[in-house]
Amino acid sequence: MYRWIYLECMFYVPGPAAGRGRAEMAAALPQAPPASRRRCAAARAGHGGSSQWAAARACPRPLPAPSLWGPALGPALPLGASGPPIGGRGRPGGGDWLRGGAGRPAGCGGGGGGSMASCRRLSGAGLREVLGPAQGLLFDCDGVLWAGERAVPGAPELLERLRRSGKAALFVSNNSRRSVAELERRFSRLGFRGVRAEHVFSSALCSALFLRQRLLGGGGNGSGAGRVFVLGGEGLRGEVRDAGLRLAGEGEPAPGEPVRAVLVGYDDQFTFAKLAQACGYLRDPQCLLVATDPDPWHPLSDGQRTPGTGSLTAAVETASGRKALVVGKPNTYMFDCIVERFGVDPSRTLMVGDRLETDILFGKNCGLATILTLTGVSRLEEAQAYMASDSAAAKDLVPNYYVDSIADLIPGLDE
Ligand SMILES: [Mg+2]
Repeated sequence: MYRWIYLECMFYVPGPAAGRGRAEMAAALPQAPPASRRRCAAARAGHGGSSQWAAARACPRPLPAPSLWGPALGPALPLGASGPPIGGRGRPGGGDWLRGGAGRPAGCGGGGGGSMASCRRLSGAGLREVLGPAQGLLFDCDGVLWAGERAVPGAPELLERLRRSGKAALFVSNNSRRSVAELERRFSRLGFRGVRAEHVFSSALCSALFLRQRLLGGGGNGSGAGRVFVLGGEGLRGEVRDAGLRLAGEGEPAPGEPVRAVLVGYDDQFTFAKLAQACGYLRDPQCLLVATDPDPWHPLSDGQRTPGTGSLTAAVETASGRKALVVGKPNTYMFDCIVERFGVDPSRTLMVGDRLETDILFGKNCGLATILTLTGVSRLEEAQAYMASDSAAAKDLVPNYYVDSIADLIPGLDE
């Protein structure tokens, strides 16, 4: 079974240009260039990495779809496996619950992002009602699974219970600081067992995949595709290299070789000189401006905040007069990457996150039921304020459910 890379992506473009880019992306992926085809063939043959993931990363398209969710996280389920959607939509008697009727002790709204969400505590009998039909869960990482270098209490046990229950877990992080290989080691270091790199979709990885599509998908080869100027750390730069792209400032540039893209990620070495250099490249209208994620800031363990990629992107946008294509949540591109690899039924998948403006909106945009956990950035009062708003855009930020911690989900799973 083959799937084609799905490019119907709604990019988040701040300001009045929001939503622009769908047609621009749809034109992005013609035939793979010869060099990419060679890398693809080598990867599929097991050279330089024998996993399906190695082939998936090396092959622009088409890609084989692995068994749903992959074997390490529970039994593979057939795509579109029968069963009720989360929240009971379509089941007899489920309608009252979807409308928030009496007699349902917990849960709110219905399965999928299309229902009106009402942010109700998920507990008691409602846990099994919601988790029972779920094939799998998508987790944000920072503030959900861990805070700094400490795992959220009960989080490793939850993943273990999900595995024993035959439900899958995948990870969707806007953090562009680390490569997925580094994130895999972080999972292990913090006590999460059995999480492999191919289960992790970071904004660094997905940005690199996007740039590969845009820069290598047009019939050229890697050496003629131009270079990428990266504002970010070694984790992000490594993902771009692994995607077969060349970085500005590394190696010998070919005569006249242009910089085809500026990629803004989390860069704690951001300087005025780097900003000026990026703006110089962006004077070429053919040079793309891409950002890994829109996160404005991140919490620190001492209660302080550190600027996020969104802050740096705003500086580049202001100085260059350009608008960035933002790959990370709440845009659906990361979900498209997941669907490309694993094949997911949105009506039976939950999105769990700690940030309303990214995680919960991402779930809404992807048609997933959403759970806010209160161990991270967003507070319950913020969700309630969005719910009380008259704005339809604000209501998109309201989760279906909330829990104090993802450990609260454990009683809803079979032993
Ligand atoms: Mg988070």
